[in-house]
Amino acid sequence: MTDFTMDKGADGVAIITWDLPGKSMNVLSLDGAAELDALIDDALADPAVKGIVITSGKADFAAGMDLNVIAAMKDGGAQAVFDGIMSLHRLLRKIELAGMDPKTKKGGKPIASVLPGTALGIGLELPLATHRIFAADNPKAKIGLPEIMVGIFPGGGGTTRLVRKLGAMGAAPFLLEGKLSDPARAKSAGLIDEVAADPLAAARDWVLAAGDADLVKPWDAKGYKMPGGEPYHPAGFMTFVGASAMVHGKTLGVYPAAKALLSAVYEGALVPFDTALKIEARWFTNVLMNPSSTAMIRSLFINKEALEKGANRPEAPDQRVRKLGILGAGMMGAGIAHVSAMAGIEVVLIDAAQDAAERGKAHSATLLDKAISRRKATEEKKAEVLSRITATTDYAALQGCDLVVEAVFEDPAVKAEVTKRAEAVIPQDAIFATNTSTLPISDLARASARPEQFIGIHFFSPVDKMALVEIIKGRETGPRAVAKALDFVRQIRKTPIVVNDARFFYANRCIIPYLNEGIRMVAEGVSPTLIENAARMMGMPLGPLQLVDETSIVLGVKIAKATRAAMGETYPDDAVDAVIFRLADQGRLGRKAKAGFYDYDEGGKRQGIWPGLAAEWPQADSQPELTEIQHRLMFAQSLEAVRALEESVLEDIREGDVGAILGWGFAPWSGGPFGWLDMLGAARAVEIADSLAEKFGPRFAPPRLLRDMAEKGERFYGDAGNKAA
Ligand code: NAD
Repeated sequence: MTDFTMDKGADGVAIITWDLPGKSMNVLSLDGAAELDALIDDALADPAVKGIVITSGKADFAAGMDLNVIAAMKDGGAQAVFDGIMSLHRLLRKIELAGMDPKTKKGGKPIASVLPGTALGIGLELPLATHRIFAADNPKAKIGLPEIMVGIFPGGGGTTRLVRKLGAMGAAPFLLEGKLSDPARAKSAGLIDEVAADPLAAARDWVLAAGDADLVKPWDAKGYKMPGGEPYHPAGFMTFVGASAMVHGKTLGVYPAAKALLSAVYEGALVPFDTALKIEARWFTNVLMNPSSTAMIRSLFINKEALEKGANRPEAPDQRVRKLGILGAGMMGAGIAHVSAMAGIEVVLIDAAQDAAERGKAHSATLLDKAISRRKATEEKKAEVLSRITATTDYAALQGCDLVVEAVFEDPAVKAEVTKRAEAVIPQDAIFATNTSTLPISDLARASARPEQFIGIHFFSPVDKMALVEIIKGRETGPRAVAKALDFVRQIRKTPIVVNDARFFYANRCIIPYLNEGIRMVAEGVSPTLIENAARMMGMPLGPLQLVDETSIVLGVKIAKATRAAMGETYPDDAVDAVIFRLADQGRLGRKAKAGFYDYDEGGKRQGIWPGLAAEWPQADSQPELTEIQHRLMFAQSLEAVRALEESVLEDIREGDVGAILGWGFAPWSGGPFGWLDMLGAARAVEIADSLAEKFGPRFAPPRLLRDMAEKGERFYGDAGNKAA
């Protein structure tokens, strides 16, 4: 395999082209790095070569390090990781010093990099080691260091170089938030040097004209001072103190990568460049050996991508949607229409009244206007997207739709009626989907003349922001309907999970116990602030009480009533209902009503826990341990996920983990509920669950599956990090 090839031109410029055979995108493997190393040696040693340009044979430069390789590196242990990273540092340092005399800094060969498109992770760290970076004028290109998003940080010198280039403050958004920029913004931020129509020609010209001084990086020059000041400089001191506080405030100490990154930056800033690289490598090794990064890479990258590419798609010909019918232009219908039209799909948006249908279409216009004001869309784009949406009351317009998504009121009778009306018009082979959040798919399918073509496609609100779509198979749903739903989700660039039909499907089934556990604690007299902080310190983006306010207390009341009606005597949540019914009676209906567990100001901004809560449910004198609260909140969700797996609602733990993070924000650092239980180990998890069950009730009793795993010493994920062994 040759990932890199070199062409030495007659003009003395050696062009090294990165072009992974058979792949649409370049990623760096250890073998690839070794190839590049050999080519650099060759070019530096060849007297006929005056300079080097590193470019890509693809539309983009590179997507980063091969994360599968990173995952595998860990198997060799910490020393192997460190050694691997250091060899990468040596290669990049060799490029940076380019054969120059270490004392005089003269005699090196200029090396430029050319980014035809996207350059991420090591795809930017490698260019950062070259002497000048040229990017194509390609507004679609994304340039940046997104490592932090999957629980690691730039460990190929990107951290050390960027901080020395931009200063700690300037580098912070790129390192700490993984901010990506288009070439123009990347240039003004100082990430790259030039944007050109023909970057290869520009790079070649530059290489031929470059002099010795052009090759010396500021940090290798005499008298270098870090922009914004070193940590012991008064200004730098303020930056570092502020950054530590900010990072801790945002992550509450949950994300090891953010902390390690700060340490690498701070410690690195105190020492010479080469020592800083070593420090960066040590912290990177530390983070890589932390189970959190394995879990995050697994769920947020490898498995997420596998699901998006159809890991669980049944065999069926291409089912891409050409014409989509949407029934109900309310909050959900309008959102689905928008994301579909954005993906180039023709949409017929139907509501009972014309003005309701128009309002649904107007939602798309509002979102596009917002995008235009942020310069993320143009008037032409807006016109094009809106022209794809036909807002109407006329079911005949559904003719020729190959998929219909129903999003009318959550009422079986209304849903049955619109199903029949639509099926009378749409082609025989069209698929009909319902976006219900609570009604069993198999029951709704009874209204359909073609139950094998009937399926659940469950979106989350707000549709344009939420990445997860839950696909639900009814008892009679056939494989083509599943393939259709998956192909549709892929078209609109969201992440699918496929589950079987059961009360609340998967995501809502697991989130409800989390919310309920928080509410129960309020009734028990646990401090609401303690509950909320405990959740956030465990990595939940929102505490349970805030989340109830966000999703609305009215909805909670509705769901509670329906569930009680369905379950009868066995209904277990009286204690929860006592709280939310009382809040609802007082008009505290959630954030939209500007009153819930929290108080809100006129603008709807959260102010703090409603003081009246303590009058209704006095706080106990003695408060529980933080860990106990965290265990209750985490086990409430995780045990439910295990039950969903045990009952085959969930067929694949990868979907359980990815769905949990994207669907309801389950502590991302843990990789999801199954990843988290693996970190604890089944035996320890059973032990904790047993003690919670004893103290708080049978809802914490460990499922048989988990108990069996504990007895056999099994894990959910095999060593290879994928499906359960
Ligand atoms: P909504 O009340 O905002 O919208 C429902 C729309 O359906 C209204 O515009 C209504 O006029 C229209 N409608 C009612 N009867 C109709 C008929 N016979 N023909 C055509 N249109 C009709 O409700 P929503 O929040 O958009 O929810 C719609 C569906 O999506 C429900 O099944 C709900 O359970 C589900 N859902 C909602 C959420 C959420 O967060 N709101 C999330 C996932 C799924």
